[in-house]
Parts: sequence; structure tokens; C-alpha cells
Amino acid sequence: MPLVKATAIILRSRKWGEADRIVTCYAKNLGKIRGIARGARRQKSRFGAALEPFTVCRLDLFEKTGDTLFRISHVDVISSFHSLREDLDLMAAAARMVNVVSAVTPDGDPDPVLFETLQQGLASLCQSEDPACTALLVQIKLLGLTGFRPQTDHCAACGKTRMAGALQFSPLAGGLVCMPCASRQRTCCVSLSQGSLAFLQQAARLAPQLLMRLRAVGRVRDEVEEAIERYVTVVAGRRLPPTDFLSHAPQSVYQADSSVGVRT
Ligand SMILES: [Zn+2]
Repeated sequence: MPLVKATAIILRSRKWGEADRIVTCYAKNLGKIRGIARGARRQKSRFGAALEPFTVCRLDLFEKTGDTLFRISHVDVISSFHSLREDLDLMAAAARMVNVVSAVTPDGDPDPVLFETLQQGLASLCQSEDPACTALLVQIKLLGLTGFRPQTDHCAACGKTRMAGALQFSPLAGGLVCMPCASRQRTCCVSLSQGSLAFLQQAARLAPQLLMRLRAVGRVRDEVEEAIERYVTVVAGRRLPPTDFLSHAPQSVYQADSSVGVRT
């Protein structure tokens, strides 16, 4: 069993058996992997709280031939981002970031830029005065890095570059669609203003360190949030827990689900 060292961000952690824990993490050099920490839930476990979601850590892993589950033998915490667990809005926004990475990345396909974008996103969230906006920006960036960049240059359905009339975003097609294609979509599109289009394009283009300077309010915020929320649901194949679950009425959750035709 060869030893592998990895720097990773914990995406999910769940109880396993009597005293173990299975974690899903995104490792800079390995991509998305799962590992088991034996005895992690015992009172005097050597792992302590190091395997909580959002933690950035250095892992010692043992790989068993023919098994996709690594055995975690040692963890050093690099950054625990503990403030993200002390506020419900911050926790929901951070959970959305790791859930998107968990849902849209394949196993064992490392992308150091994606790792850094998530790490930077979690760090920015600790300073953020608008966690939902920070999560929105990071999601747009993560979608772009995983091959799901919202298409804004031409019709995402037929490829036509000149699109007349109001801007329509199709969550199913993954971007703007021309009017004839919009009328053929199985679910209704999200109308976008020019401001929302500019915001989407800027968010996709800006480097992560400049990304957080972008702000969206009013109509632009509403439109982009709806477009990305519905698009992420399509890409992930299920509705992820809302970023702002405290202000999320059950009625609106139901409407969002039914409008994209995805069962939760
Ligand atoms: Zn079209």
C-alpha cells in the first residue's frame, strides 16, 4: 500500500460504522477522492476536528489496489475556517461552494486551479459582508472551470451568434438562447437584462482575486441568482440546499424544483 501525500479541502464528512468517518475531499494533486478515517469518532481520536467540511489540510493517505477508498492515516490542519461554522449564512454559502464541487467534478481528476478557486472562495467568505453574493460569484467561476461555463456568446442551443430580442437564459441549454430556441425549451427561460449579462461575463472572466470586487444588487442580482440556481440544479442533477436557506420559503423551493423538472 503506497503512501500518498495530499493537500485537500474537506467537502463532506459522514459517520461510518461504530467509530469511523468517511470523508469526501478535493485534493490538489488527486482531485475528488474519498477516504476513511478509522476511529475518527472516538473521544481521543488523533484526527480531532480536522475532518470537518471546509477544512484545508495535509493528508497522509494509503491507497489500496483495486479500492477507490483511501485510508487516512494522518491529518494536519492548514486552515480550519472555523468562522464559517459559527454563522448560519456563512455556513450555507460555504456548503453551497463545496456541494457544487462535489456534484460537478468527476472522481480522481485533479485541477489545481479549481482547488485554489475553492480555497480562495472559502477564505473570501470569512471576510464577506454578503455571503450569498460571494457564493454566487464562486459558483460561476467553478462552473467555468468544470466545463459548464454559462454560454453567453452565442445561442447555447443552435449556435447562432446574432440574437435579436430580449435575452433569454435557458438552464437546460446552459446559456443564452435565441428567441426561436427559447420557445422550444421544455422549461421556461430566465429573462436577463443587459446588466445581468455583463455581470455573468465579468464573473466568468475575472481572476479569483479580483472576482470578489463584483457586486450585484436589485434586478441584476435577482436575475443572475435565478439563472445560476436553476443551471446548477440541472448540472448537479438535483437541487442543492439553498445558499440563503433562512430566507428561503418552502413555496419558492417547490417552484424552483418544478420549473426545471428535476426531482429532489
Ligand atoms: Zn438558437
